[in-house]
Amino acid sequence: MVPDRRPPAGLAAALEALTAHVDGLARAAGIPLPAHLPLTLPLLGPLPERAAAVERAVAAALEASRPAQAIWREGRVFCPRCESLDCAHAAPPSPTTVFGGYAPTGWPQWLDFTQVCVDRRVPGLDGIFADPPQVVGYADADALTAALLPEYAAALAPWRPLGQVVVGPVPADPGRPRHSERHALTLQVVALAQPGSPATLRLNTLGLSSEVIIDAATDGPPRGVAEGLWRTLQQAHRLVARLNRRAGTAAARGEAFDRAAALSTLLGRLRADLVRLFEPRTWRTRHADDRHQAGVRPTETALGDAREAGDDRLYLDTRRETVIVIGPRGRAHVFTLRGRHVTSLRLAPGELTRRTGRDRWKPLAPDAAQAFRDALPLPAP
Ligand SMILES: [Zn+2]
Repeated sequence: MVPDRRPPAGLAAALEALTAHVDGLARAAGIPLPAHLPLTLPLLGPLPERAAAVERAVAAALEASRPAQAIWREGRVFCPRCESLDCAHAAPPSPTTVFGGYAPTGWPQWLDFTQVCVDRRVPGLDGIFADPPQVVGYADADALTAALLPEYAAALAPWRPLGQVVVGPVPADPGRPRHSERHALTLQVVALAQPGSPATLRLNTLGLSSEVIIDAATDGPPRGVAEGLWRTLQQAHRLVARLNRRAGTAAARGEAFDRAAALSTLLGRLRADLVRLFEPRTWRTRHADDRHQAGVRPTETALGDAREAGDDRLYLDTRRETVIVIGPRGRAHVFTLRGRHVTSLRLAPGELTRRTGRDRWKPLAPDAAQAFRDALPLPAP
């Protein structure tokens, strides 16, 4: 007799939930889902802490599983001639040049942003030459790769741009929108594929690095242009991850999915959001709207997260002398040392590790952590 080896139902459900969590994280980080993930299972202590420990362990194990040959470098495009992201052809020669797709023989084309806008008669073109300039934008999809000869098109298999949104001229320092040089900003949807596995979509940023954007958002005023840009970038990551999931689900079910149409909608929305973001009037209006609304929920969430954060969730931003509170689900809040909420943002996967690894954020010393907690306003009765 073969004994009944069916596992307990609760265990199957837990494993299913864990697998879904890992899968979502892997897609968002552009890492192919590995067949196995070595994890340590914490069994003692409060459940929220153990869940947080598992969450961290999953993120770290996934990052460790990232295939060495996975091709990724923010701010660059793949060069099919050199089959590289490191050659001179892969990077824009200046922050005002934009990716104009591939030439038939595989060379990445870098074009002057203003010239492209003039050639394409981009709506609002005159605004580029105003002072301060107005931000305009356009989107590209199939045209990026349409001219390639088949042999070079095949070389793009591991890193293929599906579409992009280009806006400019945007402030090189989004935290100082009125006083800085101007760049062209590109958000690019890229399909990454390992041989034998389905493609994963990922968002690439050219012209301004996501580090510059998050720094400006952290340092800038709440509801400023920099924070808006950071939120739009996070939104773009979410939209790309969702497109990824929808394509994956449709493929698994053998259903048709019009990825090109979904991508076109996504790019159109991003272009509109980005252009609107840099219209000075939008920000004034939004600010007034926010003040008009009675509830200040973001601040309440931030305060709640700050009150509940253990010492291991409190960091000192060494450059700005501000306290960073790490909340649940990638939330992060910036406070002054005296407990005043400055702004909130959402951390991309791996962002915390990167910031603490570079010593930009250091764990807050226990006495400073206690002083910070004491300085926080008391919860409303
Ligand atoms: Zn090259």
